[in-house]
Amino acid sequence: MITIEARERLLKLLGPERYRDDKESLVTHSYDATPMMQSLPDAVVYPESTADVQEILRTANEYRIPIVPRGAASNLCGGTVPVAGGIVVAMTRMNKLIEMDTENLTATFQPGLNTKTFHREVEKRGLFYPPDPSSMSISTLGGNIMEGAGGLRGLKYGTTKDYVIALEAVLPNGEVIRTGGKLYKDVAGYDLTKLLVGSEGTLALITEATVKLLPAPGIRKTMLVSYKDIYAAARSVSRIVGAGIIPATLEFMDQPTIRVVEEYNHIGLPIDMQAVLLIEQDGQDENVVMRDMEAIAKICSEEGADRVQTAKDEIEAEQLMKARRSALSTLARIRPTTILEDATVPRSKIAEMVLAINRIAEQYGVNICTFGHAGDGNLHPTCPTDARNEDEIHRVEQAFADIFEEAIRLGGTITGEHGVGTVKAPYLEWKVGPTGIDVMKGIKQVFDPNGIMNPGKIFAKAARKRLVVSR
Ligand SMILES: Cc1cc2nc3c(=O)[nH]c(=O)nc-3n(C[C@H](O)[C@H](O)[C@H](O)COP(=O)(O)OP(=O)(O)OC[C@H]3O[C@@H](n4cnc5c(N)ncnc54)[C@H](O)[C@@H]3O)c2cc1C
Repeated sequence: MITIEARERLLKLLGPERYRDDKESLVTHSYDATPMMQSLPDAVVYPESTADVQEILRTANEYRIPIVPRGAASNLCGGTVPVAGGIVVAMTRMNKLIEMDTENLTATFQPGLNTKTFHREVEKRGLFYPPDPSSMSISTLGGNIMEGAGGLRGLKYGTTKDYVIALEAVLPNGEVIRTGGKLYKDVAGYDLTKLLVGSEGTLALITEATVKLLPAPGIRKTMLVSYKDIYAAARSVSRIVGAGIIPATLEFMDQPTIRVVEEYNHIGLPIDMQAVLLIEQDGQDENVVMRDMEAIAKICSEEGADRVQTAKDEIEAEQLMKARRSALSTLARIRPTTILEDATVPRSKIAEMVLAINRIAEQYGVNICTFGHAGDGNLHPTCPTDARNEDEIHRVEQAFADIFEEAIRLGGTITGEHGVGTVKAPYLEWKVGPTGIDVMKGIKQVFDPNGIMNPGKIFAKAARKRLVVSR
């Protein structure tokens, strides 16, 4: 609830155009990309400067009003659903590219900058920012940083957390901290930059960030490998990396995914195959890239690939990557509700995990399609379902609980890149244990003693009981 005094203070600061509590604004900000979650905020505000953010947080902290920071709301964990009401802080107007430093190879920006727009600016200067979530045409860099977003190039280049080197963050009491710097080496005290990355808006509100850039690789080759045997595809993944080759992209799609993606994109994906691997290698030296591509093709053939096809030009390569990036949105066309997860396992356990996902889906009588970043073990088992069918939704939830449990059993995690948010909060203890939860709660208490920052996220009221699975 917002008190009259708090409302007046914020209205005075922002004016009626940037402080909204009309029905339409509240409903528009009551949900994100996560299915089956909605909760109304009490107000939506649009800061345009760090000073605005400071005063918004100071006011909220004084009156104990929940704050929900929001970028493009494309997260898949209920991260921006205002489950305790309060003020949604929409960061989209703080979207300036502040500096591109070609000497230090860094870029500094406000968090509301769109990821794809940023990529284009970086590319114009012949540079490269690898983190490329499939949602990059809609997501913001602030949202990427706060979720620790990954993407198709995670295997070779790492994810967002590997690139953020400095942050400006406003604490709930309105004070500003600056962490890190344009530094590749910095061990002065605890690493607050790394702590804030992936903190899902539960500790502070980010108002500026600096990331590392790389020289553009220049040469890029793309290959599509098709398999009648899904496990041969999984084995190929392990063998490629085991042979010391780290492709820029190593993506997996199973048959149900291939069919839907092809139906939508019409680019000639082999719909009769059980699985495909989409493999890309890049680098500065064409000979080295070609040598890797040949070695990869050989391994895939030895493991039982039915077809190895190299993209004939940039256009075909881009079409293949675009098709893979559209996997979630195209699967969402099958049925009214689409639940996507990102259980992640060590790469060597991919075949075992794919096998387990299929067995669990069969056990609960649900349809689960799997695609994902196979190279880094980050699979996206995706279930097209219908939220109106309670019995089916219950079975889907049970199936995903089993999938998380299996991922942890195999040495993996409940989320590789989408974050915990509200959806996976009940499972966090499975991964980090009760002591781990206590340490995280202690950190939260230091940053946010009044618990106003994105309440209901990361920490669940009660941990979900582990299922006793007899297999
Ligand atoms: C079709 C589709 C494909 C996707 N593909 C990928 C993928 O390949 N890889 C991947 O990792 N994710 C993917 N996602 C998930 C999602 O796009 C990412 O999590 C993305 O990083 C969210 O960015 P956003 O701007 O939408 O952030 P939001 O959803 O608005 O926010 C995400 C979190 O960050 C917090 N937050 C946002 N801005 C700030 C700020 N300035 N300060 C403090 N906290 C803040 C929010 O409170 C929330 O907890 C996909 C989603 C969709 C719908």
